[in-house]
Amino acid sequence: MTFAAVNQAALWRLVAFIVLIVLLLAAEFRLPRRPVPGGWRRRATNVGLVVFSTALLRALYPLGAVGFAAHWHSGLLHRIDAPWAIATAASLVIFDFAIYWQHRAFHQWTLLWRAHRVHHSDIGFDVTLGVRFHPFEILPSFGYKLLIIAIFGMAANAVAIYEVGLLAFSLFTHANIALLPCVDRVLRWLIVTPDFHRIHHSIHAEELNANFGNILSIWDRLFATVRASPRDGQTGMAIGLVEFRDLGEQEFDALLAQPFR
Ligand SMILES: [Zn+2]
Repeated sequence: MTFAAVNQAALWRLVAFIVLIVLLLAAEFRLPRRPVPGGWRRRATNVGLVVFSTALLRALYPLGAVGFAAHWHSGLLHRIDAPWAIATAASLVIFDFAIYWQHRAFHQWTLLWRAHRVHHSDIGFDVTLGVRFHPFEILPSFGYKLLIIAIFGMAANAVAIYEVGLLAFSLFTHANIALLPCVDRVLRWLIVTPDFHRIHHSIHAEELNANFGNILSIWDRLFATVRASPRDGQTGMAIGLVEFRDLGEQEFDALLAQPFR
């Protein structure tokens, strides 16, 4: 895979991001699940944070995870000569399993929590929350992703598919949309839905420490971290953290400084 192909993967990710955020924003305005505080200023700040974090990552490591995978010719999957479809499916499941545990580590370890807290301090829950991540969360997550690729030897195109899939799910699972209850019930047996993930953004500690899944919901059932419904109800539950309720905490500079406070 050439550098042009790596750039093409990044371009496709950008296109997917723009198309999905526009579609989900439109769906949120048509069928909102709950009112969202903060208006467009909050949304712009959240998107601003991902632009900043992504630009920083690209400046530090222009090759990206796809480029790393293209140059890394080792790892478990490299040794097993499995058909493309099976190797790709296995890569995606391994990635999702690994990211479930990464998410748990971000809640468990104080230093990592200081970075991940920026994501949880949002008092609103909508599609833009799906990309609100501090550079201190983006950078260690990226290093961890390279480690997973180094161990398992995922192919570059599997990494590209996974990256678009994770982004798409991050946008979808944070969307302020009302799925039909029967649709939500069926979907959440396999995948994370907005109602399932919203519980993870609850102000209550026992709900904050549940529903860690990113794409597949099976890991939460498997490792007993699942919570089916919030105690205050989906429309009544408070989103965010007790210590960051002020609107001033939602400003760009306040978010960048938050891990140090
Ligand atoms: Zn979390």
